[in-house]
Amino acid sequence: MNCLRLEEVEERIEKACQRAGRKRREVLLLGASKGVTAGRLREFFQCGLLTFGESRVQEFLKKHQELVGLSIDWHFIGNLQSNKVKYVIDKVSLIHSLDRDSLLEELQKRVSVLGKVQEVLIEVNVGGEETKGGVEPEGLKAFFERCMAQKNLKVLGLMCIPPYRENPKDVRPYFAKLRRLKEELESEFLVSLPHLSMGMSHDFEVAIEEGATIVRIGTLLFGVRA
Ligand SMILES: *Cc1c(COP(=O)(O)O)cnc(C)c1O
Repeated sequence: MNCLRLEEVEERIEKACQRAGRKRREVLLLGASKGVTAGRLREFFQCGLLTFGESRVQEFLKKHQELVGLSIDWHFIGNLQSNKVKYVIDKVSLIHSLDRDSLLEELQKRVSVLGKVQEVLIEVNVGGEETKGGVEPEGLKAFFERCMAQKNLKVLGLMCIPPYRENPKDVRPYFAKLRRLKEELESEFLVSLPHLSMGMSHDFEVAIEEGATIVRIGTLLFGVRA
């Protein structure tokens, strides 16, 4: 296949970085690959896309198996059920969707058995939407504190899936809010949180302008999903 779609997205990321006075290497492009076949992922990997984020455990396990020979950096970005934690923790470098105590406890328990430290992001429900996962902003500090108390988990930052807005510029306040929440945690707990995972096909340029360090792009790279 040709690598045109990836090149086009790359170019737009580059331009957004320039506008924001940021370096391209400060932003990681993650292919949000739910519904995309292993064969397609292999093609994108060969074009130079090395990081993929999966959202559904069964589907992920199947693709992971099929692509086991490639040095893909896998992340988990979807809602994670506690009873599935054991299947993903030995396969992903970063979990973007830590959002509740039951998951926190299961992660700590399972990861400690493996003798590793799992890097995670806390998902925040920045729009206060009832249908979406994520910690409510009001409860974030207390939840962050409980995360910090877990020996085998390392919080690297925050993630959000903001409400959909026709005009991507209208999403800006939600991205700014996530950045502000991160900065508040950093100053209150005297820690450094390197990552803001925010921005999807529709709004990643605005997210980069607001400080995103990981953009999760699906449709724009892979086309409409199965
Ligand atoms: C599907 C998905 C994306 C990508 O969405 P697109 O609009 O297709 O770019 C990003 N993040 C998460 C958590 C997703 O589930």
